[in-house]
Amino acid sequence: MKSRKDYNHSYYLTHKAKITAVNLAWQRAHPESRRNSQLKNKYGIGSQQVEAILESQGGVCAICRRPQEELRHPTPRLHVDHVTVDGVVIVRGLLCGRCNKALGLLRDDPTIAVEVVRYLRKKR
Ligand SMILES: [Zn+2]
Repeated sequence: MKSRKDYNHSYYLTHKAKITAVNLAWQRAHPESRRNSQLKNKYGIGSQQVEAILESQGGVCAICRRPQEELRHPTPRLHVDHVTVDGVVIVRGLLCGRCNKALGLLRDDPTIAVEVVRYLRKKR
């Protein structure tokens, strides 16, 4: 006799195309619900909390002050900037894609960021 897990896996493999189609249709019909689930899984906060952060930032990127409305496809929303400390996700704020990438390139290191500013000011 198959275990419940084996049965479920076997059922999934047999009906994979149908299950995938149903899941995709649901995700397309409920984009905000899907986004809320993704936010909770990745950052531990829901879309209402993201909206509260956005409002506290005045609807703009926390670094360059670019309005969220100016962002275009494929990322029409500000990114959730976060760090993980001792396995705990801490949301720092919302950033446009460029600023989010810049922090990653600077290795989230304030010392390097200060040196970048110093370098840019010296070269003007
Ligand atoms: Zn920005």
